[in-house]
Amino acid sequence: MPDLIDLHTHSNRSDGVLSPTALVARAAARGVSLLALTDHDTIEGCDEARTACAGVGIRFVPGIELSTQWRGQAIHVIGLGVDTASPVLAAQMDEVARRRHERMLAIGERLASRGRIAGREIAAAALAAGGIPTRMHLARALVAQGYADDTQQAFDKWLGRGQPGHVPIEWPELLDVMPHLAGACRATVLAHPHRYRLSGGALRQLAADFTAAGGAALEIDMAGMSPGDRDRIASLARRQGLAGSAGSDFHDPAVPWNPPGRFAKLAEGIAPVTERLDDA
Ligand code: AMP
Ligand code: MN
Ligand code: MN
Ligand code: MN
Repeated sequence: MPDLIDLHTHSNRSDGVLSPTALVARAAARGVSLLALTDHDTIEGCDEARTACAGVGIRFVPGIELSTQWRGQAIHVIGLGVDTASPVLAAQMDEVARRRHERMLAIGERLASRGRIAGREIAAAALAAGGIPTRMHLARALVAQGYADDTQQAFDKWLGRGQPGHVPIEWPELLDVMPHLAGACRATVLAHPHRYRLSGGALRQLAADFTAAGGAALEIDMAGMSPGDRDRIASLARRQGLAGSAGSDFHDPAVPWNPPGRFAKLAEGIAPVTERLDDA
């Protein structure tokens, strides 16, 4: 395994700031030698990223971060080494894109009716950004139109739970999505397991369900993980016999503490998921 790798990054094809080409240039400058692009619910940026990686000698892994739910909680699952021509994956992406588009319009309506601000214009501006529409696009539009000082405040004040623009969304069920995703990629990774608001028992059950559904790995090396989180998630991986993945979840170069690239060394006794990606 090379020294600096990144199996979780975003471009402006979803809610990242950089184009795939600019993301690859930044990764190259940091010395990343293996890079996956894992935009939310789209593989749109993969061709561009692959070409850019070839130009700078980075090994590229096409990827995706799919939005799903399990026991009513949003859960993100990453596909690595995806078959970008898979019709099953295309159908999955279309369905999520449809739900996301509807949600953007519904949030716009709520911001107008409950928030008494120019919600429809905000939704229109967010949709005009292109790529897969996310709440981050709405947060940026709220900032641009003067309704929040920064995107975190836009979530806290307008978009988050209990706020005027909060609209719950039903994602496809994790256990329905898993067979489709697992059949269309080299390895599936349960994204940022330490961030879900689940009890210890529920998190163990999630990992068990994910494993039974063909899941391959847990993300166990990310910026912002405490040593306690790292130990907890590593134990969970060992218990389930899951591999480990490492990624930054890079979105924005303005966040200096989270550049692309993680050291590839994982905890003792955990196989790197990169072993499953050979000749991908
Ligand atoms: P969503 O459209 O719900 O998938 O959210 C898109 C992105 O917004 C997520 O991938 C996060 O990067 C960001 N995000 C979601 N919820 C919050 C929050 N409460 N505070 C800050 N950022 C958030
Ligand atoms: Mn995101
Ligand atoms: Mn995520
Ligand atoms: Mn992500």
